[in-house]
Amino acid sequence: MTQLLKIDNLTCRYDEQDVIAGLSLSLNEGDIGCLLGPSGCGKSTILRAIAGFHPVSGGSISLQNNIISSETHNVVPEKRPVGMVFQDYALFPHMTIAQNVGYGLHKLSSQKRKEKVAEMLTLVNLSDLANRYPHELSGGQQQRVSLARAMAPEPSLILLDEPFSNLDVELRKRLSLDIRDILKSLNMTAILVTHDQHEAFAMCDQIGVIKDGIIQQWDTPYNLYHEPVNRFVASFVGQGCFIKGKLISHESFETDLGVIEGNRAYNWEAGSGVDILIRPDDIVFDPSASLSCKIISKTFAGTSTLYRLELKSGAVIEGLFPSHQDLYIGDQININLAADHLIAFQWSEPSSKTSQ
Ligand code: ADP
Ligand code: MG
Repeated sequence: MTQLLKIDNLTCRYDEQDVIAGLSLSLNEGDIGCLLGPSGCGKSTILRAIAGFHPVSGGSISLQNNIISSETHNVVPEKRPVGMVFQDYALFPHMTIAQNVGYGLHKLSSQKRKEKVAEMLTLVNLSDLANRYPHELSGGQQQRVSLARAMAPEPSLILLDEPFSNLDVELRKRLSLDIRDILKSLNMTAILVTHDQHEAFAMCDQIGVIKDGIIQQWDTPYNLYHEPVNRFVASFVGQGCFIKGKLISHESFETDLGVIEGNRAYNWEAGSGVDILIRPDDIVFDPSASLSCKIISKTFAGTSTLYRLELKSGAVIEGLFPSHQDLYIGDQININLAADHLIAFQWSEPSSKTSQ
């Protein structure tokens, strides 16, 4: 696998204030990476730095082994083989769809340009609308035009900054899968910025969870969910809550849920205080179980319902049960824990992990 993008110890600031502080990641050709994090954590700043719109105050960004940004070296945006797609589509309102897509192709002859525009419009399934204007298209169609325009000059890397934020939920889901298919069909490398983990999971091969300008974990969607490296990643990705416990052997803990055990070993000293991640789908409603708790709230979510459950100790956990199992607030119910491996964090939290 060929490495396409490498960000090494990147620092970016606004007005002397570091917003990105020592961020590193790398992305292979053909992969879709994601920057996932809460609003204001620095995602757009990273994309702007990659595109050349924001200066770098430390570290470097390399594309195909060439440094494009560092404190002392800055390739201008027009010379970077990078295409961008924005949340608000940013199409030119007075140009037709075909003209928008052809905008970055001034170096091509008019025949070649026509062919390229036609090829791109076919790819995003909008050939019929080539002569319309942006305001005559739906939001989802406009975003496909925006992608076609970004891809037309054949950049090495496509950056997508919250591209689905203006669209309704159903369309977001569909378009994110469509765009993944389009990018994959061209073996295009891309970075998606989002604060929506479902979008990140559905579209991306590698995800970096960002907090306070650094990547907490750069990993596959599966590993982020099942092997989060710290409390922030564990609570940002997926639902869940923590219960307090004490390590009694490498794999078992004494907790408010009783003695619980998983197949993942921890080498901390026996007696160590830990927080254990409990996902709502790890809790199973089971009238024959011995552990009892009280329902204190419920949120209907279609095929399932999320219940907040208070244990005898006063600790609160969440359980996700099929919605035909309609239970009531105030009910005393019995539950089991059905987790095969337990994610625990010592009370002194381990440091974050990034891969280079
Ligand atoms: P995100 O895209 O994750 O929401 P941004 O990269 O836009 O975050 O912003 C990161 C931080 O930098 C925020 O605290 C934001 O307020 C600040 N910031 C963004 N743009 C500017 C600017 N032009 N001047 C000063 N601060 C800014
Ligand atoms: Mg942003």
